Amino acid sequence: MTEYSKLVAQDGSINKSLASFFRTMLEKNVVDAVLVPAHQNPKGVMQTLITAPEALDAVDPFAPVAPTNSARLVTRLTNVPSGRPVAVVMRSCEIRALLELVKLKQANVDDLLLIGIDCLGRYENADYLKYEQGGATTEDFLKAACGDKGTKSADGFDVAVACRICEYPAADNADVRLCVIGASPGEVFVEWATEKGLNARKAMGLEAEAGPAGRDAAVQQIKKTRTAQRDKVFSDMYEHVGSMEKLRDHLAGCINCYNCRAACPVCYCKECVFVTDTFRHPGDQYLSWGDKRGFMKMPTETVLFHLTRMTHMSALCVGCGQCSSACPNDIHVTELFRSVANRTQARFDYHPGRSLDEPQPLAVFYAEELTEVTGQVK
Ligand code: SF4
Ligand code: SF4
Ligand code: SF4
Repeated sequence: MTEYSKLVAQDGSINKSLASFFRTMLEKNVVDAVLVPAHQNPKGVMQTLITAPEALDAVDPFAPVAPTNSARLVTRLTNVPSGRPVAVVMRSCEIRALLELVKLKQANVDDLLLIGIDCLGRYENADYLKYEQGGATTEDFLKAACGDKGTKSADGFDVAVACRICEYPAADNADVRLCVIGASPGEVFVEWATEKGLNARKAMGLEAEAGPAGRDAAVQQIKKTRTAQRDKVFSDMYEHVGSMEKLRDHLAGCINCYNCRAACPVCYCKECVFVTDTFRHPGDQYLSWGDKRGFMKMPTETVLFHLTRMTHMSALCVGCGQCSSACPNDIHVTELFRSVANRTQARFDYHPGRSLDEPQPLAVFYAEELTEVTGQVK
C-alpha cells in the first residue's frame, strides 16, 4: 500500500521545499548522500552527489534538462558497493536503464533509495541553457506543461522528440515518487511506494495524507497523447528506413564518432568491437573497396556499426533519446532505434525496466522460441 505526503512551495519555490525534504533525509540519517539534479556555477543543471545539507540549496529535480542518462552515473556509485545508503533522484528512463544495468551486473540497487520524478520531458541541453538564461524557471515549465500550455518554450523550441513519444511520464519501480502531475501549482506530492519508501517516511517524521485527486486520469491522458505521437513516429520511420538503401541514406551523415554509443545507458560492452583492430584496415583495403564501385564514402562501416549496436541492445532501449542528443550531425538515432526496439521488445514481450526478475532476451535461450526462425519443430 502506498502513502502520500504533501510538500508546499516555500516562498513561492518548490525547490526550497524539496531542499528541506532532502535535508531532513540527511539529518535523520535515512541516507548518507543524495544524487540529485542541481544548479551549477555559472550555468546549467547537472546530477550532483550531495552529502552536506547546506549544498542542497541548489537542487532542481524537475528542471527540464538531463545532460546525461544518470543510470550511467549510478553504475559508478554502485558497481563496487559502498555499503552506504544513497538516495538517487531519477527520471523514468533513467530508472528503467538502471534496472537493465543491474541485470548486466554493472550496477547494484541494494543501498539505494530510488526516487522517481514525474517527467514532463527535457529540453536539449543547448535549448535548456537558453531557457535558463532567458529567466524562465522550473516552476514556469511545470505550470505550462501540467496545465494546457504544453512544453514549448517562449522561444519556440520543444522538449526532445524522445520525450514527446515517451509513454512513461511517471516513474515505475521507484521507492519514492515525487509527483507533480495532478497536483496544483506549487505542490509536490511524495508517494511512498515500497517498504523502503514507507520506512523513509516514518524515519523522516512526515505525515501521511491523501494523494493528488485526478492524478491517475492526468497521467493516462499524457500517456495517450504521447503514445499517439509515438505510433506516428514509428510508422514514419518504418517507411523512411524500410530497405537497406533507405537505411544507408538515413545514416549518410554518420561520421563514426560513436557519441551515440557513449551516451546510451544500455550500450554495455566494455570494449566495443568497432574500436578494435577488426575495423582498422590497411590502406589498400579501402582502395580495393573504392575500385569496386569507383567511389566510396568515408568513414566506412557506418551502417554496420548501427546494425551491430541494434543487435546488441535493441531489446534494452529505454527510449531516453540521449543518442540523438549526442549526435553532432543531427541523425535521428532515437527514432530509428526506438522503432526497431519496439518490434524486438514486442517479439520477446520484454519491457526494459519493467522488472528485475525478467531475464534479458539475449541472456536466455528457450528451446522452443522463435521456431519460425530456427525451423525447429516439436
Ligand atoms: S524519455 Fe521520458 S522519462 Fe526520459 S526524459 Fe524524456 S519524458 Fe522523461
Ligand atoms: S538507443 Fe538511444 S534512446 Fe535507446 S536507450 Fe540508447 S540512448 Fe536511449
Ligand atoms: S553520434 Fe551521430 S555521427 Fe556519431 S556515430 Fe552516432 S549517428 Fe554517427
